[in-house]
Amino acid sequence: MGRIAQNLEDIRRTIPEGVELVAVSKFHPVDAIREAYDAGQRIFGESRVQELAAKFDAMPADVRWHFIGHLQTNKVKPLIGRVALIESVDSERLLRYIDDLSARAGVITNVLMQVHVAQEETKFGFLPDELVDFFADGGMRTLRATHICGIMGMASNTDDMTRVRADFHAIADTRRRILELFPDGELRGFDTISMGMSHDYEIAIQEGATLVRIGTAIFGDRDY
Ligand SMILES: *Cc1c(COP(=O)(O)O)cnc(C)c1O
Repeated sequence: MGRIAQNLEDIRRTIPEGVELVAVSKFHPVDAIREAYDAGQRIFGESRVQELAAKFDAMPADVRWHFIGHLQTNKVKPLIGRVALIESVDSERLLRYIDDLSARAGVITNVLMQVHVAQEETKFGFLPDELVDFFADGGMRTLRATHICGIMGMASNTDDMTRVRADFHAIADTRRRILELFPDGELRGFDTISMGMSHDYEIAIQEGATLVRIGTAIFGDRDY
């Protein structure tokens, strides 16, 4: 068994049923993705549009591609109709743009709203209160071709695991607050909590992650 297949097997053993694994393949070649694919992996995460588009063309059609990077509106178009999920919607403007392009293309695009709870100022996303307000104001009601499937977030980049756990808790709590606004079930399908990377995914799962995004622990270090 190759190294990537072995890593995948080791990681899968630590992930409970009901938690999905995104293999983050950014900066890794198609050969590496192919090895993971042959080991049964079907969901891959990419953070750059051109890279995703090239890999999309090189891999079988049953791969489910997740876009996980910061997305500028002028780069959205190649993703529409190609990605299973855009995990990193970090502004209302981007959301509306995705919706417009999706409606025009006649497809539904699935997205997650990115929430910012980490200490670093460089991380993108809605603040928890901003995101709650967006839903409280009914911002999702005018979407025509976009389905909001849940939220995504990252913990602070620190060795302080108490802080990391608190960040994951805050992400999951944001989803709970939003759901509570709609006790009649209007937000059907707002189920996904995407959080947890190679070094912290086990804590994320304990705090309620339904989807983890793991790169380095599967593919090894990236050459940027
Ligand atoms: C790169 C990346 C990951 C994967 O990180 P690893 O530490 O390699 O597991 C997860 N989520 C996002 C948003 C990323 O950009």
